[in-house]
Amino acid sequence: MDKSAVDVAIVGAGPYGLSLAAHLRESQRSFRIFGAPMRSWSHHMPKGMCLKSEGFASDLYDPHGEFRLKAYCAEKRLDYADIGLPVKVETFIDYGLEFQQRYVPSLEHVQVTGVRKVGDVFEVTTDADERLLARHVVVAAGITHFTFVPPLLSELPKNLVGHSLHHSALQNFKGRKVAVIGGGASAIDHAVLLQRTGADVELVARRPVIRFHEPPVEPRPLIERIKAPRSGLGLGWRSRMCSEIPLVFHAMPQSLRLKAVKSHLGPAPCWFTKEAVVGRLPMRLGASLLHARAETGGVELAIRQQDQSEARIRYDHVIAATGYKVALSRLHFLDSALRSQIRNVADTPILDRQFESSVPGLHFVGLAAANSFGPVQRFAYGAGFAARRVSRYLASRGRRRRIGSAAVSSA
Ligand SMILES: Cc1cc2nc3c(=O)[nH]c(=O)nc-3n(C[C@H](O)[C@H](O)[C@H](O)COP(=O)(O)OP(=O)(O)OC[C@H]3O[C@@H](n4cnc5c(N)ncnc54)[C@H](O)[C@@H]3O)c2cc1C
Repeated sequence: MDKSAVDVAIVGAGPYGLSLAAHLRESQRSFRIFGAPMRSWSHHMPKGMCLKSEGFASDLYDPHGEFRLKAYCAEKRLDYADIGLPVKVETFIDYGLEFQQRYVPSLEHVQVTGVRKVGDVFEVTTDADERLLARHVVVAAGITHFTFVPPLLSELPKNLVGHSLHHSALQNFKGRKVAVIGGGASAIDHAVLLQRTGADVELVARRPVIRFHEPPVEPRPLIERIKAPRSGLGLGWRSRMCSEIPLVFHAMPQSLRLKAVKSHLGPAPCWFTKEAVVGRLPMRLGASLLHARAETGGVELAIRQQDQSEARIRYDHVIAATGYKVALSRLHFLDSALRSQIRNVADTPILDRQFESSVPGLHFVGLAAANSFGPVQRFAYGAGFAARRVSRYLASRGRRRRIGSAAVSSA
């Protein structure tokens, strides 16, 4: 075993990476964590957006639960409610940055460019030209590697068509004709915010009706609370099970888990956007894209509409708010030999109860772990469970290693 190796390298400094690092800080394990803090939120979500998750489910996790969003808002005298008051994305970013400063001051603001296996450790390289060895690597790389754009659009020039992740600042679209493709929360958020900035926007969605989440009503009668308990993922027993007992989800047969991750918690938009949408936002619903063609300075979309008629419309720009699809093959910083050793299903890693892949020492948390631990891993709410579970496991590995080496040296 290489003694110069650090115990743990964490790739990514979003809610999952930072929460894990905050937990590891209390263990006797040495660790390093890499990435720009909260970057997905500050650079890849539309400015002015509000979170879909309720206040009580929008936390980063320190080991003693001291610095939740509620505590931050109280310190800063910001309005806060556990339920029913939308959290501004700017508040969540500032909270995450404050969390990082307090609990993970050692964060290194560099990108990890490579991870490969060298004997029984990992060699990690960064864009600061550093090479280090680590016994464990935790991939907490979040959503940015996994954007999904439908094939019809993905071939078009990037200056005409982009995934919603690449459109955080929307002011440049003022006065331009923009199509937002998709009918989920992200599509609605983008379309509403574009309209507010003065863009001539149209939402184009396959679904025939946009169904919004209902606004939360509290307090609820006992019978309602029994029938549909509240959880970090919303109302209902299914959401409760997914959010509170992910190990039970993990124990379910693989085919059921994959189905549940696909179908549970669809992309329904939030209740608080409804007012800005109904009767205000131009929409083509029940629409399917037939083809898309780049034209000078724009894109022509051929769309089959709900009444089966065909329309050809020219837009200056198309934003595909078409979601995310986990694919190990998109994690280019993992060496291809290493990637090929990871047991996977549908190109997503198969993880054991410690979030560890079939390559010993290589762990995945967050979205990439959803097929193993359920839809809660798609949300910040799942970061608490992942941080506790992985940090406990890594601490126990450290203890075992220390006992092992003490036994060797006393022999
Ligand atoms: C529009 C939108 C709205 C959402 N709203 C909510 C919501 O309301 N509530 C909620 O809980 N979730 C929401 N989500 C989901 C949200 O993305 C996740 O909850 C959250 O980001 C998970 O945290 P994470 O740490 O896994 O990932 P991220 O926040 O994506 O953090 C991962 C970080 O790793 C970094 N990284 C990646 N590769 C490397 C590398 N090679 N080296 C160094 N760093 C790297 C990335 O830059 C990123 O900063 C939303 C997502 C979208 C797209």
